[in-house]
Amino acid sequence: MNVVFLGPPGSGKGTMAERVSVRLGLAHISTGDMLRAEIKQGSELGTLAKSYIDKGALVPDEVIIDMMKERFTKDDAKGGVLLDGFPRTVAQAQALDAIAAMDACINLEVQAQVIIDRVLARRVCNECGAVHSTKTHEGNACTVCGGALVTRADDNEETIRQRFSVYEEQTAPLIEYYRGKGILHAVDATMPIDEEANLICKILGEK
Ligand SMILES: [Zn+2]
Repeated sequence: MNVVFLGPPGSGKGTMAERVSVRLGLAHISTGDMLRAEIKQGSELGTLAKSYIDKGALVPDEVIIDMMKERFTKDDAKGGVLLDGFPRTVAQAQALDAIAAMDACINLEVQAQVIIDRVLARRVCNECGAVHSTKTHEGNACTVCGGALVTRADDNEETIRQRFSVYEEQTAPLIEYYRGKGILHAVDATMPIDEEANLICKILGEK
């Protein structure tokens, strides 16, 4: 089974994708993680990708699609994959269909305001990097190391709203694409994380 995961920044998509892929025995393919790994290794593809990122440009479709083609030939992909961060456009989705047929698209739905509230409550330890929330954590000290908790510079309402609307604009055609194929499943991403994982696994046919 091959699954596409969609969800706005701040929806907890990466965490959920990891959990679900482990439970269902699917290879979790995160394009962000793959690109970072290629760049770190200094591979040909990594060097090429870095040249775009350093200019502030998007890595072109052909590069990402070639990377995906290669990834699908790996053994762990034979038992099915869960894609996280790809495709981002209808053109990429069509290219993906030429590599492998997709069986389901999980669309994590969460309103901008929910994400804003979540991110505005976020505090990061400036010693160890642990992430805390003022909703569950009192005081200004890290529970891991005792370091001071601070607010990240880009954790502000304007930046989050901007990121969210860019995401919505980009993803709307993709949602229509998978709806048209009859494989789109919307999931409310504001429910407790265990419930959400159970629901997604059930949708994906977990016995
Ligand atoms: Zn800490």
